[in-house]
Amino acid sequence: MRLVSNIVEMQTLARQIRATGKSLGLVPTMGALHDGHFSLIRQAKGQCDTVVVSIFVNPTQFGPGEDFDRYPRHLEKDLEALRAYKIDAAFAPSASEMYPESFQTFVEPGPQAASLEGACRPGHFRGVATVVTKLFNVVRPDVVYFGQKDFQQALVVRRLVLDLNLGVRIVICPTVRDADGLAKSSRHAYMSEEDRRAALVLSRSLRRAEELAFKGESRASELLEEIRKVLESEPRARVDYLAIVHPIRLEPVDRVTSGCVALVAARVGSARLIDNLIFGPPGTSPEMLLQMALTAGPIADAGARIPGLETETLRLKIENCRDCAAIASIRLPPREFLTQYVKRDYPDLNVVRVVVIGRDAPPSLDNFLYRDPGRSNRFAALVYDLVGVQDLEEFKRRFVMTHAIRCHATETHVPEKALAYCAQHLCAELKLFPNIGTLVILGDDAYVQCQTLLLGRSPGKFKPLLELLREQGWAREDVRVPRLGDRMMRVFYCYHPTMDYMRSPCIGAMLD
Ligand code: AMP
Repeated sequence: MRLVSNIVEMQTLARQIRATGKSLGLVPTMGALHDGHFSLIRQAKGQCDTVVVSIFVNPTQFGPGEDFDRYPRHLEKDLEALRAYKIDAAFAPSASEMYPESFQTFVEPGPQAASLEGACRPGHFRGVATVVTKLFNVVRPDVVYFGQKDFQQALVVRRLVLDLNLGVRIVICPTVRDADGLAKSSRHAYMSEEDRRAALVLSRSLRRAEELAFKGESRASELLEEIRKVLESEPRARVDYLAIVHPIRLEPVDRVTSGCVALVAARVGSARLIDNLIFGPPGTSPEMLLQMALTAGPIADAGARIPGLETETLRLKIENCRDCAAIASIRLPPREFLTQYVKRDYPDLNVVRVVVIGRDAPPSLDNFLYRDPGRSNRFAALVYDLVGVQDLEEFKRRFVMTHAIRCHATETHVPEKALAYCAQHLCAELKLFPNIGTLVILGDDAYVQCQTLLLGRSPGKFKPLLELLREQGWAREDVRVPRLGDRMMRVFYCYHPTMDYMRSPCIGAMLD
């Protein structure tokens, strides 16, 4: 692990890393590292070839009278801990390195930064946006990791990245808590035992609201009242704000739906603490809740999406699917597709208009269209012929190829329930591409799955594929797809390309 404190040295090192073609993840922190930070580092290690952790207590995000001077600083201890994670570099510049005397340019975030933390701490997000922009420019990471604990910060940074075209991906990771529920924070360093006990009131108040929501209470006013009651029952806590908001706009809501966020801030003793909770159905995993919050809004709103983040949460969801794990052999690796090929081949998810779905396609994993783009194989060549493109380069400008039961095996017997999970994952995957209007279904198995799992038709209530295709070798129907939010889709049915005795003609001209 390199310790770097000089900006030019960090820029050089990052340039060297990028020159080798390796991906670079950045975890920005203010040090006094704890398990919350370590969870971001683990996530970064799992997704990126190289990882840089920055440690910088950023003066510009602290207001006058705030805790900048006494913020805990334990560089040696932090570096010791980071060594165990085998990261590539710790970037720990001094304040004068980051803000020399001549410094005068700031990044000013918009309305998302005005409420909540922004209202209580004027100038805070201006400082955050400025330092984050500087760190991004110094390290030039591919992916940057933030914690849900600072929910508004994550949103402000996400907006900043989109607005200023910074070209990095933001991954937001769930809040890490102590066993008793207290969200980990470096600021615990200056809390007495008694304060710490009192601080539990934040997470307790949020959990209380969650319990009520689970019981069916959806009026924000009632839930807020309950949060307030719990907070006020703790004499050592002084509430700064509590709110239940729309997860992207951060405006208060009247009715709480999945993905809405409750946020609280309070002073306990001399520490100021924040916490939040994303509402969702009981039993929803933290990653899924984040996904619900962060993909809220109309699916075609490209601005509300971060390609990459969704693929990551979707991957986690697939990996966490226990019913799927029961099945032994996995054909197309979802993790590989979602994190590697989607990232590599679809930097702009909006370009994809057509999804080609082929159960059992290709017959050999090595022939998977995306695996070796330079090498042609029979399956790939036949798919390209069918949709009228030359090669993968041309294919990926409009098309994406996926697998009807990507996450599952091709055993002779795949349980119904597992298939339903697959369909759920397939739909989630399709929703990554907001502008899809056409599906191309290859072969009988994908046809049956499309009819039952995507279109919700009963088995036996639709024509057999061979009959449907008999006349012209392909068929088309325009239909609302219930599993894709009732979106209108043109669905083309074709023979499976490697089915030797039947071949569909090229349907490329109809797919525009
Ligand atoms: P800080 O050092 O407090 O500026 O935090 C650095 C990063 O770690 C930010 O993205 C925080 O949101 C994240 N973080 C801090 N505490 C936690 C926690 N308890 N769980 C998850 N992430 C956290």
